[in-house]
Amino acid sequence: MSEPSRFLSLLTGSFSTPAGENPTVAMVEAAYRELGLNARYINCDVSPCALVDAVRGARAMGWAGFNCSLPHKVAVIEYLDGLAESAALIGAVNCVVLREGRLIGENTDGQGFMASLRSVADPSGQQVVVFGAGGAARAIAVELALAGAAQVTIVNRDRARAVELAALLNERTSARAAAATWGTGYRVPEGTGIIVNATSIGLSPDVHARLALNVDSLQAGMVVADVIPNPPRTELIRDAVTRGCTPLDGIGMLVNQAVIGIEHWTGRKANASVMRAVLEELMDKAGEPN
Ligand code: NDP
Repeated sequence: MSEPSRFLSLLTGSFSTPAGENPTVAMVEAAYRELGLNARYINCDVSPCALVDAVRGARAMGWAGFNCSLPHKVAVIEYLDGLAESAALIGAVNCVVLREGRLIGENTDGQGFMASLRSVADPSGQQVVVFGAGGAARAIAVELALAGAAQVTIVNRDRARAVELAALLNERTSARAAAATWGTGYRVPEGTGIIVNATSIGLSPDVHARLALNVDSLQAGMVVADVIPNPPRTELIRDAVTRGCTPLDGIGMLVNQAVIGIEHWTGRKANASVMRAVLEELMDKAGEPN
């Protein structure tokens, strides 16, 4: 494979469907421009039955790597040559990296969340509540446990999924984990330091949707994180601010997972502020409440 040169760009991109509203391309290409790299990020709408050919195409064209978004995060694994440790534990891949001719699956969702979280808190020794047990929750719960969180409680609508994720954490990490149900208004237990909404509640267009959470149980000083990037000021983030908690919006996670992906593909550290500004401008133009 040739090195990138004047007329030959380093190629990266994303495979998902639907892909039309995915803003990652704007953020990543802004980062490449700022770094002065001759690199491109191509947003591709790839159906499940075309995924195998898309991966083969990326391999044939010498792509440095690509993101996989819904619905390919699990399905892509069978077309790869290996998995990084946390991706294997999580059982899903959102970032593929070409290393010495082998396509290796990484999961940067949870790592992106952790980079964002570490800007405000150290999860080590903390009691954490994670709402959700889907792909994002799985990635975040595994990374929190690997980072030394003492207790992780998984609260999910479908209890069986919460039980399964809690069992994974208990079996494969040093964290203590438990499953809990929502009830009519979940009360965050005393002593909790971090809560994370990793469900899709609050995502545009259903921007005023709320978790079944007793807001009075949010204590000042708790970190309240939301994975929802659009809009970033969800009802949960607004409640957190009102209650004197430290809010952490979903844009930080989205930017940081891309920073990590870019580093895997190019070896360069991208400017997170430039990337965040691109996303915020796009969301302002979309007229989301802030
Ligand atoms: P999944 O479909 O895998 O999981 C969805 C989760 O949300 C499940 O736990 C589901 O519960 C729960 N849920 C959905 N609707 C409701 C509801 N009405 N009431 C209670 N629970 C509900 O999706 P992902 O985990 O992949 O994504 C979740 C969110 O995370 C998305 O909105 C996505 O945009 C965001 N995300 C953000 C990223 C970022 O970088 N900021 C990165 C990745 C994802 P149940 O199991 O009971 O169905």
